[in-house]
Amino acid sequence: MTRIPDILMVLMMAGLILTPSGTTSAQEQTRWAIAIHGGAGGDPAQWDDEKKQARRDGLEAALKTGRDLLAGGGSSLDAVEAVIRSLEDNANFNAGRGAVVTQEGKAELDASIMDGRTRACGAIAGVTTIKNPISTARLVMTETKHVLLVGPGADAFAASMKVPLVKPDYFLSNHTIAPNTATESTEPHFGTVGCVALDAHGNLAAGTSTGGTSKKLPGRVGDSPIVGAGTFADNKTCAVSGTGIGEEYIRNAVAYDITAQMFYANHSLESAITEIMTKRLKPEVGGLIGVSHRGEIVMQHNTPGMSCGAADSQGRFETFLGLENGGRSIQESNADLSDDETAIRKLIRQQSDDWNAGDIDGFMDAYWKSDQLTFSSGGQVTRGWDATIKRYKDRYGDKATMGQVAFSELEFLRLGDDAMQVLGVWQLRRDVDPIGGRFTLIFQKRPEGWRIVHDHTSVLKTP
Ligand code: ASP
Repeated sequence: MTRIPDILMVLMMAGLILTPSGTTSAQEQTRWAIAIHGGAGGDPAQWDDEKKQARRDGLEAALKTGRDLLAGGGSSLDAVEAVIRSLEDNANFNAGRGAVVTQEGKAELDASIMDGRTRACGAIAGVTTIKNPISTARLVMTETKHVLLVGPGADAFAASMKVPLVKPDYFLSNHTIAPNTATESTEPHFGTVGCVALDAHGNLAAGTSTGGTSKKLPGRVGDSPIVGAGTFADNKTCAVSGTGIGEEYIRNAVAYDITAQMFYANHSLESAITEIMTKRLKPEVGGLIGVSHRGEIVMQHNTPGMSCGAADSQGRFETFLGLENGGRSIQESNADLSDDETAIRKLIRQQSDDWNAGDIDGFMDAYWKSDQLTFSSGGQVTRGWDATIKRYKDRYGDKATMGQVAFSELEFLRLGDDAMQVLGVWQLRRDVDPIGGRFTLIFQKRPEGWRIVHDHTSVLKTP
């Protein structure tokens, strides 16, 4: 490990070392940054004042621990571990002491931690006796050649490392919400904790710890201990921790997807997280916190609330029980629709260009290349891409018959994250038999881009 000599670090932190451009690094850059979350379940508007205050106090205490460590030149890994330990010891969060319980009324805890310098990582799942799962996850990372230990093996490993162990009732003794109550079952995932940090040495780290979803089946493992799903860190991109319905985070490799968007497609942390929260995950699934290698902090949720907080070397220190507009700017949320509209408008414009160049194959590219494509016109349904292109080619055999097409009066109606209805008018100008009418297109966002999966075209008039 290369470490910056302490004296250099002190000078840098005091803003006395000049960057090559001649300005002090401390004045310009975020030297360290930290974000925390305490879960995205439940609706804070429904919580009583006591519960809200307990949450805020817990977040502030944890964030202060992280801030002080990072401001003193401590490592992001130490900050992540210390913050999560503080939240694990607080029964108001669903991790460590306050963990929710399985259908059988027992706490089974999961945690993971990752070092952005090397992608070293450690995790434990389904443990029942470990007071601070995050610290044992770190020991899996540093003391074994493995990444993930589960169940009794993980508990035995913790015992061999002499970490503090507790009796199972430790996790039940101080619940603010009694296990198995109606309140708990309507809040299936609340209070998981996570932390992401960038330290003054430029290193990122991420960690997540949870009791999982309440009333889970014994043995169920969520995303929190799965590196790439609930946790990820890489110094080249970002550190991320998620909270929400873990199965969705695993299915979508959420934490890795964010780093991949940044690494392969050069997306910003903000746009990568927005993409996941608005387009990949269904509404009401959860939230994410991330810090980029440049120190930008992004926190978003698509649930009614998310306990979270952020601090950095520029003096920021704030905590929230929920973020306005889920943490996205109003502009961004409007941009969702117009981004998709823009993509579809472009596709339709390309179709008319191809048509007018006599290129039916290019025109047909906008359709879903599937047997399930449906095209209906004149009371008949043509099924499949092959049959549809054949129909076009039979009808429009030469350039004169194809004429010049124009599409207009497009109206967009979003049908879902990945589906859009488009109504419009078409006109075919040609010397013989000019025709036109209306169309209804159903577009679906597919891996290859937006594609027409259903087309209903009617001939309304002869212009
Ligand atoms: N993601 C956690 C899990 O599924 C729960 C949560 O974040 O609230 O285990």
